[in-house]
Amino acid sequence: PSVWAHIPEAPADPILGLNEAFKADPHPSKLNLGVGAYRTEDGKPLVLNVVRKAEMALVTDPNSNKEYLGIAGNAVFCRLSRELAFGTSCQAVRGNRIATVQSLSGTGALRVGAEFLKEHHPSKVIYLPQPTWGNHTKVFKRAGLEVRTYRYYDSTTCGLNFQGLMEDLMGAPSDSIILLHACAHNPTGVDPTPDQWKQMLKAIAGKQLLPFFDSAYQGFASGSLSADAAGLRMFADACPQLLLAQSYAKNMGMYGERAGALSVLCSSQGEAAVVASQLKQVIRPMYSNPPRHGAGIVAAILGSPELFREWEVELSGMADRIKLMRSKLHEALRQRGTPGSWEHILKQIGMFSYTGLSKRQVEHVTKKWHIYMTLDGRISMAGLSAKTCGYLADAMDDAVR
Ligand code: PMP
Repeated sequence: PSVWAHIPEAPADPILGLNEAFKADPHPSKLNLGVGAYRTEDGKPLVLNVVRKAEMALVTDPNSNKEYLGIAGNAVFCRLSRELAFGTSCQAVRGNRIATVQSLSGTGALRVGAEFLKEHHPSKVIYLPQPTWGNHTKVFKRAGLEVRTYRYYDSTTCGLNFQGLMEDLMGAPSDSIILLHACAHNPTGVDPTPDQWKQMLKAIAGKQLLPFFDSAYQGFASGSLSADAAGLRMFADACPQLLLAQSYAKNMGMYGERAGALSVLCSSQGEAAVVASQLKQVIRPMYSNPPRHGAGIVAAILGSPELFREWEVELSGMADRIKLMRSKLHEALRQRGTPGSWEHILKQIGMFSYTGLSKRQVEHVTKKWHIYMTLDGRISMAGLSAKTCGYLADAMDDAVR
C-alpha cells in the first residue's frame, strides 16, 4: 500500500478555495468578492504604473544580476520599509534599534516572527482579535504558539467592542503577545479611534504585553501612508519592544511577488544586532534567502522621491475607488429599502466590508446570485464596480427579506 494511503483529504482554504468555486461557475453575472485583491472598474487586476516603471528599469539595468540575496534579504529594501512604517523621525529608527529582515510578503513575516517568538519569548501565548484573518490562527499554531483571543467585534453595533477588548487585554497574563491589525482590520473593517489606540497602548505598555503589529494595508485604508501608521507609531514611541509584519501585496499591488518585511523593535542597538542574527537562524533552514525581484521594485519606488510621489497618487486612487464603492453600495441598498441598518458599510475601513449577512444568507447569495464571499459575510469592496453594486444590492436585499 502507498505510504500516503492513511492521509485524510484536507478541507479547501476558506478564502483561496472560493477562487476555485468561482472559476468553475459558468454564470455570466458571477461576481467574486472573496479574495482581497484590488480590481479596476472593469474588474481587471491592476499593475500600478509606478511598479511597471520601476520593474522596467530593473530588468533593463545592465548591472543587475540574479545572485542570491543575503539571508535577511535586500538591505536597502529593509531600511526603507522600516522607515515607511515607523517614520524617519521615530527614535527607534534613528537609534538603529530595529532589526528588519525581508520576508515572503506579510504571511512570511508573521511566520518568521512566530518562529522567533516560539524560540525566544518567555510566554509563547499570543492573543488574536476575535474575529481575525483566518490564516493568523494557523500561522501561529503551526509555529507552536498558544493561540488565545480577545474580544474585538460587536455584532449588535457592527463596531468595536471596546469594553470587551480592554477587559481582555487587562486580563491577559503580563508577558503575553498581542496581535494588532495596524489598520483596516480584516475581516471587519473596524479600527480603533486614535483615543482608543491611546487607551490600548496604556493597557499594553502598563501590563508589559508584547505588541505584534500586522500591517497589510498601509496607505490602502485611508489613502494616507502616515495616517494608516498612526497606531503603530504611537506604540513604537512608548513600547520598549514590539514586532511588525509588513506586506506590499495590497498597497503596491504586488500580491504574487511576495514582498514584505519583519521588523523587531529592541531596547538597544546591540540587542537589535543579536535579534537580527537569530532571525537569520530562523530563515536559513526555512527558505535560505528571499526572492530578489519584488523587493528590488519596492526599494526602487521607496528610494526615489519622484517614484514615491507617483505611488502615493496611485495608492490614494485605489483607496478612493474603494470608498466610492462603499457609498454606491450603501445608496443602492437605501434605494431598495432593504430592511436593516447599513451605515456600517460607510463607516468600515479598508478593503473589506463585514456586511452582517449570516452564513445562511451568504449561501443563498452564492447559490442563487452567483456572488462569492466568505461565509462570515465579508465582501471585498475592491471587487465591486459601479456596474455591479446594484446587482449585489439586489442579492443582499433578496437574502435579508
Ligand atoms: N495580514 C492580513 C490581515 C491580511 O489581510 C493579509 C492578506 N490577506 C496578510 C496579512 C498577508 O498577505 P500577504 O502574505 O499576501 O502579504
